[in-house]
Amino acid sequence: MALVTNAIKGTLDVLPQESYKTQYVEGAMREIAENFGFFEMRTPVFEHTELFNRSVGETTDVVQKEMYTFNDKGGRSITLRPEGTAGAVRSFLQNGLFNEPLPQKLFYLTSCYRYEKPQAGRLREFHQFGVEAFGAGAPSQDAEIISLANEIFNYLGIKNLSLEINSIGCKTCRQDFQNALKAYFEDRKEELCDTCLSRLDRNPMRILDCKSPVCKEISKDAPKILDYLCPDCRAHFEAVQRYLKALNIPFTVNPEIVRGLDYYTRTVFEFVSNDIGAQGTVCGGGRYDGLIEELGGKPTPACGFGMGMERLLLLMEAQKTPFPEKKGCDIFIGSMGDTANVAAAVLASDLRNEGMAAQFDTLGRSLKAQMKFANKLGASYTAVLGDSELEEKKVKIKNMDSGEQTEVSLENFTEDFQNLMLREAMQGLEASESLDGLMDADAINAILKNGQN
Ligand code: ATP
Ligand code: MG
Repeated sequence: MALVTNAIKGTLDVLPQESYKTQYVEGAMREIAENFGFFEMRTPVFEHTELFNRSVGETTDVVQKEMYTFNDKGGRSITLRPEGTAGAVRSFLQNGLFNEPLPQKLFYLTSCYRYEKPQAGRLREFHQFGVEAFGAGAPSQDAEIISLANEIFNYLGIKNLSLEINSIGCKTCRQDFQNALKAYFEDRKEELCDTCLSRLDRNPMRILDCKSPVCKEISKDAPKILDYLCPDCRAHFEAVQRYLKALNIPFTVNPEIVRGLDYYTRTVFEFVSNDIGAQGTVCGGGRYDGLIEELGGKPTPACGFGMGMERLLLLMEAQKTPFPEKKGCDIFIGSMGDTANVAAAVLASDLRNEGMAAQFDTLGRSLKAQMKFANKLGASYTAVLGDSELEEKKVKIKNMDSGEQTEVSLENFTEDFQNLMLREAMQGLEASESLDGLMDADAINAILKNGQN
C-alpha cells in the first residue's frame, strides 16, 4: 500500500529553505530571455495524446515508453506533457499567433512528465526552461537561441560546459541518409534490441539515439548525416557556425547528436557537462522547420531548446557555484504581555508595508525563547516590546552582529529603524571599501533599494 508521506518515485520537493536557489536561476532565465525578446507562454500541463504522438513522433522513446497517458472520465486520451514544444506550437496555431509579427519568440518554465528509470538527473517529474522562435528560418535565429542558452550559463557562472552541434538535414537529404542507415543496420539486424528492430523500417535514425550499449556500439560505425546534407542544409549549417564564431561561442561539431524527438530538422545542439555523471546534457534543442505544418499550420520554420532545471541545479551544486543569499529577516519584534503582543503584530505589519522583512512571535513563547528563535532566523536586528516600552513610547533596537543598542521612539519606529539600517549598511560598506578599495555593486544596489522605500 502506498505510504501517504512518501512522494511518488522520481519526483522532488523544493523546500522553503532551498527554493531561493531555484527562484534565482528562474529569475535570471526570465530576465535574459526578455532581453532577447522572448516572452513567457503558459500552456496546460496536459494535452490530447495525439498532439505528442504526432509531434514528438511515434517511434521515439518518449512516445513508446515514457508518456503518462490516461483516459479521463469522459473517455478522452490525455497525456501529461513530456516536453514543452508541442503545447507551444498547439497554442501558436490555436491562438492565431502566426498573424502577429514574426518571429514569435516565447519562453516557458514548466514541469514535464516522463516515465523513466529515476536516477541522478533523471526524474519522472522534472522542470524545463524552454524557448521557441516561430517563423524565423535564417541561421541567425539558430545562433540567437544558442547564444541565449550560453548567456544564461555565463551569467550563472557555470563552467566546463561544452556546446556540441550537428545538422540532421531536411526531409530531402534525410531520405538518402535513412536509406543508407537502413542498409547498414539491416546487416547487423540480429544484434539490435527489440525496440530498434521495430524502428529499422519506420525510422532507422532513431536507432542512433538508442541508450542500449549494444545498439550504441553498432551505431558508432553507421553512416554519418554530415556526408548526406543537401547544399542548402550544408550552407545553413556553415552559416550557423560562422555566427557562433563571430559571437565567440566555442562549439564542437558532433555528428553523433540526433536528439530524442522526431521533429528536429537541420541544426541540433546540446550543452553537455562531465561534472554530473551520465545525465550530463543540461540543454538540448534545435530547429524543427516541419512541425508547425505537420500540426496543421502553414509551413513555418522554427527552433528552440529545453534546459533541464534539476540538472542545471545539480551542476551548480557540483561546481559550488555561488548563489545570492536567501532573503533574511531584517528585524524580529519580541514581545511580552497581551497588549505588547498585539503591538508587535501591528509594528511588524507597518514595517512590512515599508518593504522590510519583519517577524514576531506566533507561538506564545517566553521572551528568552523568542530571542533564541530570532537568533536561529539570523535576524539582523531585534527589538522587544513590553509594558514599559509601551508606556514610555521608546524601544531599543539591537544590532545582532555588533550587540549595539539604539533607542528610538515607538511612534517613529518604522522610519527610525529604516534610517538605522541604512546608516549601518553605509558604515559597513565604507569599512569594506577601505579594505579593498572597491564598491560592491550588490551592496550599493541594496542601499539604493532600501533608500527608495
Ligand atoms: P536524455 O538524452 O538525457 O534522456 P532527452 O534527449 O530526452 O535527454 P530532451 O527531450 O531534449 O532530453 O529535453 C531537454 C532537456 O530536459 C534535457 O537536456 C535535460 O536537461 C532535461 N531532461 C530530459 N529528460 C529529463 C528527465 N527525465 N529528468 C530530468 N531532466 C530531464
Ligand atoms: Mg530522454
